[in-house]
Amino acid sequence: MRRIYHLIDGREVPSHSGSYFASENPATGEQFAEVAAGDETDVDAAVKAALRAFQGPWSKITPAERGRLLYRVAELIEARAEELAAAETLDSGKPLAANRHIDLPFCVDFWRFYAGAADKLRTPVVANEPGVHRYAVREPLGVVGAIAPWNFPLVMASLKIAPALAAGNTVVIKMAEQTPLTTSLLGQLCLEAGLPEGVVNVVHGFGERAGAALVRHPQVAKICFTGSTEVGRLIGQECARQVKPFLLELGGKAANIIFADADLDLAVNGALQAGLANNGQFCLAASRVLVEERVADRVTELLIDKARSIRVGEPHDPATHCGPLISRAHLERVSSYVASGCAEGAELLTGGAPPRDLPERLRRGFYFAPTVFGRVRPQMRIAREEIFGPVIGITSFRTEEEAIALANGVDYGLSAYFWTKDADRVHRVASALDAGLVFVNMPQYMVPQMPAGLRKSSGWGQNFGLEALENYTKLKGVYVNYSGKIFPWLT
Ligand code: ADP
Repeated sequence: MRRIYHLIDGREVPSHSGSYFASENPATGEQFAEVAAGDETDVDAAVKAALRAFQGPWSKITPAERGRLLYRVAELIEARAEELAAAETLDSGKPLAANRHIDLPFCVDFWRFYAGAADKLRTPVVANEPGVHRYAVREPLGVVGAIAPWNFPLVMASLKIAPALAAGNTVVIKMAEQTPLTTSLLGQLCLEAGLPEGVVNVVHGFGERAGAALVRHPQVAKICFTGSTEVGRLIGQECARQVKPFLLELGGKAANIIFADADLDLAVNGALQAGLANNGQFCLAASRVLVEERVADRVTELLIDKARSIRVGEPHDPATHCGPLISRAHLERVSSYVASGCAEGAELLTGGAPPRDLPERLRRGFYFAPTVFGRVRPQMRIAREEIFGPVIGITSFRTEEEAIALANGVDYGLSAYFWTKDADRVHRVASALDAGLVFVNMPQYMVPQMPAGLRKSSGWGQNFGLEALENYTKLKGVYVNYSGKIFPWLT
């Protein structure tokens, strides 16, 4: 059986305790690897290694040189894209075609962007006057503790590691227990690219043990977390206790508003992409489709029709749109949301269960048919809580004001989408939506250059762009008096 180890101080190591846990292929339900199960001791070894690297070799490297090393990581990811895409499919069940054409190119662009950004941090020199020079500097934090989810493993690991390194930090990352494989491979690529040992460390294990130990560790300067709002709150509490800074990217419950004046075919395609791509397992997923009443019947028909044409199956098959969900436990969670939607009076229009026509060898995989609910009311659980599954619900509205109130009327504020051809409305609605990311006439498509914020229960901090570098720095204001005099107090 294949074994996946921690990567600490440049070496693959088993857990101090010697324990392992199983990693399953979601497409078949079969175990394909044993993964080192980390605990406090392993986390401590990784943090110490990261601290030594931070104080030692990494601190002596210029920002431009850091950029060159990060660029080399991007080149290695590009050169090994096929191997990484296949590993990602094996571990996460994500379709190979999506990994090849979306995730891997995004990772390459992302590392390249932060390679270029490594020497672009600027800080102000403020209102100088004769005799006094004032300037601000941004310094790296030290060891960044990153905790990542399973939905886009390689992208999530890159999102955390690349800007942290660009700003001069070292990293200990704990990837989700469901998807350890590609983060380990990425750690190896960082070494191969020439990053000093200990700059990127990977510890595997369960959240409550390894993740919590990383959050608690006094030598971790900041926690950068992506995951559920529930766990984010726990992490925020522990960080507050230690007065340790944190970045939280949590859940979402995005609305996708389709106005009657939109290009409806485009809007329906976009709504399916924004709601059901990656089986809806992403925090930007727009599981609430709000449709202007006078086109609601037509849009509903189109949505049902197109949702039925989504091909669910073997993730290696290039024709597959959606592979399996991540795990049996998650499949059960999604099923329970479907049951709650039915119990609360929503109308199940299509899907709602595992597909019936799966070939024999996939019967133990975690597949679920794309699901569309109609007549969803805002107080229902499926309209308020993050499902993180291939489930969208349709609610109709009469006026723009009503649509905005519905869109903003949830605890989350991560992203929002809308479709219209009215140019005034574009700016009016974009400004009224209480979300950190707004997509107009397009589904989710993000580029590393473009910053986004986090609002409400969706988190705290900022992501992407040069702005994300600031997450990984601390600011210092320096006052230098060269006048030979000081403010007359005792004279
Ligand atoms: P999901 O429900 O999507 O699995 P989680 O928030 O449970 O999301 O997990 C996201 C990441 O947080 C994973 O790497 C997981 O292991 C980690 N995690 C879970 N619980 C804790 C915890 N108490 N402390 C630190 N990390 C945790």
